[in-house]
Amino acid sequence: MSALENQGTATGTAAGTAGQGNGAAPLPGRVAVENPATGQTVGYVDEMDAGRVALIVERARQAQPGWEALGFAERAHLMKELRYWFVQNRKRVIDSLVAEGGKTPEDAMLADLWYVCDALGFWGRSAERYLADERIRPRSPFLLGKKIVVRYRPAGVVGVIGPWNYPLTNTFGDAIPALMAGNAVVMKPSEVTPLTSLLVAEGVEAAGFPDGVLSVATGSGETGAALVDRADMIMFTGSTRTGKRIVARAAERLIPVSLELGGKDPLIVLSDADLERAANMAVQWSMSNSGQICQAVERVYVEEPVYDQFVGRVVEKVSHLRQGAPGATGAVDVGAMTFPPQIEIVERHVRDAVDKGAQVLVGGRRREGPGRFYEPTVLTGVDHTMEVMIEETFGPVLPIMKVRDADEAVKLANDTRYGLNSSVFTRDVEKGERIARRLDAGNACVNDALINYLAHDAPFGGTGESGLGVRHGPQGIRKYCSQQTVLVTRFGPKREPTMFPNKRVMSKLFDRIMVLLWGRRPKRRS
Ligand code: NAD
Repeated sequence: MSALENQGTATGTAAGTAGQGNGAAPLPGRVAVENPATGQTVGYVDEMDAGRVALIVERARQAQPGWEALGFAERAHLMKELRYWFVQNRKRVIDSLVAEGGKTPEDAMLADLWYVCDALGFWGRSAERYLADERIRPRSPFLLGKKIVVRYRPAGVVGVIGPWNYPLTNTFGDAIPALMAGNAVVMKPSEVTPLTSLLVAEGVEAAGFPDGVLSVATGSGETGAALVDRADMIMFTGSTRTGKRIVARAAERLIPVSLELGGKDPLIVLSDADLERAANMAVQWSMSNSGQICQAVERVYVEEPVYDQFVGRVVEKVSHLRQGAPGATGAVDVGAMTFPPQIEIVERHVRDAVDKGAQVLVGGRRREGPGRFYEPTVLTGVDHTMEVMIEETFGPVLPIMKVRDADEAVKLANDTRYGLNSSVFTRDVEKGERIARRLDAGNACVNDALINYLAHDAPFGGTGESGLGVRHGPQGIRKYCSQQTVLVTRFGPKREPTMFPNKRVMSKLFDRIMVLLWGRRPKRRS
């Protein structure tokens, strides 16, 4: 059986033609995939039940030992083969991402395809170093002369469950380090955007990966839950609500879980900031991918003296954004809203803000169809009684709030249950770094935003309700492993001094040693 026969199949092409005609009801057990920019159906995939997920996981389990035995160098070579496939097939991959996500080809190219190509090289190069045995030098006198080594071994079958906003980066992107660590992986892409993952499975087969090493289980939440019931470890990216459900389910089997969840990321502009750069960053990272980025800039706090000037620049820039169905590169800046319920959340947040006194300076409404678009929107007169300042909006909405000073900005920035990314803009970089360190978030940038995500060697993760664990860096691959500490005694006496029978003389000796070592009252260092 080929790798592709084992997994979900897609009908129709991602670029536009539907397998069963647009508007046709999907067959039982199939999920329709819609192009959110046109409203057309672009394909159908299987809704896999628990039985099929169990078969896929079993097959992955059988493939895993052989994959692990291949070793780092051979796995790294296959990663490069796959990267070559991605580059050769880049147009198909980008078309698929644009068709199922309604995003611009620029976003598909840079935030999905580029990221994954870079990650294939990075983990290919770095996995062996990050997972090398670590020699420990024990300090306890009881361990004198003993060798202690910590080693990492693959968890087994890793389930990667992903969201719809970055179907390549946040699904296959997380599979790459898991595979390099020697695991087999079963991906469960979002039911809203499953087609690109099936394309990845085609690439994996073409690149020469052994059968069963990477498979795709298509379907909705039930399919994901079935994967949680079978896999040895779960890497989840998605909403905080689902993340909590997954933790509860995984707790039944006590399997490890790593979570990358939602955010409400703040951006602070101090009066000495380069306002043009700060405004460009705020506009780019609130509107890119229609604001459907976990670490999008979702709220801005600006010091009073530069508030009017900053708002003026942002309004000018947002008013000139081109929105529409993505076509050729360079045609539009902002694409569609991928997920139907999300546009309703965006509408609700803006309505709630306006009802409580906010002003809409640009946009503020859903665009007429076809397709699902929300106009790039700028709000002022906002405060923390409004949903748009405290709940994840996940849409093209930028609320801007005036603050007295940096302290008030930090206080408001930290008034959140999330903690994913954050930014502060100031020409005084030392002050910027001091403020960045006061922000309660897993990541903080000075005079920048989001770009830290591209540092595969630096941990990226959220605090609070934004997640548990990290991706990237050493922990980003060690989390896919179980850890084993190996102790070796090369030369040992037949009988250790602490062994039975207990003797008074030995107890006295240890009592003396304890007093000698730790029996003096400590003196405070001046
Ligand atoms: P979601 O939680 O609705 O779905 C994510 C995935 O979980 C989907 O594949 C879905 O089918 C699956 N799922 C749903 N219920 C499940 C269950 N009970 N058991 C197992 N799997 C289940 O999230 P979404 O709407 O697809 O994605 C948007 C969210 O993802 C936003 O909150 C965004 O901030 C977050 N996100 C976070 C990051 C990050 O790195 N922190 C990156 C991208 C997106």
